[in-house]
Amino acid sequence: MLVLALVAALDAFTIRVEGFTVDATLSSAELPVPRTNVEAWVESAARNVVRYLGRAPVGRVPLRIRVGGRGAIGSGRMFGGEGDVAIRINLGPATTPASLETDWVLTHEMFHLALPDLPEGREWMEEGFATYLEPVARVRRGRMAEAELWQGLVDGLPKGLAKAEGPGFDADGSWGPTYWGGAGFWLLADVAIRERTAGRKSLVDAVDAILDAGGNGAEQWTVERLVATGDKATGVPVLRELYEKMGPRPMRIDLAALWKRLGVVPGPGGVTFDDGAPQAAIRRAITRP
Ligand SMILES: [Zn+2]
Repeated sequence: MLVLALVAALDAFTIRVEGFTVDATLSSAELPVPRTNVEAWVESAARNVVRYLGRAPVGRVPLRIRVGGRGAIGSGRMFGGEGDVAIRINLGPATTPASLETDWVLTHEMFHLALPDLPEGREWMEEGFATYLEPVARVRRGRMAEAELWQGLVDGLPKGLAKAEGPGFDADGSWGPTYWGGAGFWLLADVAIRERTAGRKSLVDAVDAILDAGGNGAEQWTVERLVATGDKATGVPVLRELYEKMGPRPMRIDLAALWKRLGVVPGPGGVTFDDGAPQAAIRRAITRP
């Protein structure tokens, strides 16, 4: 079972969730919220990631929490790729217990620990990975509603669609394709792996194999190694095929057809679900705890 240990200290605490240790340091003891809320926030984010992966992304990560600045929770960043990892995040004066409860930023940063650093131009794969998995992991833990996840994808993915003319995502680099185009890549990959293995494998099997091969956020890999390692684990060349379609050249994605297949029904009052859709079972499996 998951084990949580809180080590009390004035400006530092340690969270352990299974084999995942987060060494947090606070830049100030003058927090905008009770300290126990901050500790629970870090523990919950760690648990989101470990629960989804079924393992620790890395053994240990330093987490530098900068107290102050402006706003609430923000300026999250994972530093990696040079043999080490670290996460930095800002806790502004507007932080409330409620904003810690619903925060996505720290979970997003922790998902960056579960994929190696890729060469320049492949940030869309790294950001898309964290953008897709963060809400999925929170839904699986009951920290976010299923409809909110799909609504976020319905609203977000159009911002990442490739232009019909012009470069693929490797040469784009703008915000929409980086975050939402990348999220679309990993969603399509997850769906296709499940479809082509009749539900026996999913994206997590690919990630597990990549982590087994040492491909966490501390390491630098090529895209070729990433997709080959992931595809070998699932037994279907989904990552390679999808990368070849989206990376070097633009790929049109028919989102309306995707939502129809998955049984995601956009509407004025928010998304609803059609469990009679051909791939409704895949949609439900993505968020099953
Ligand atoms: Zn990110």
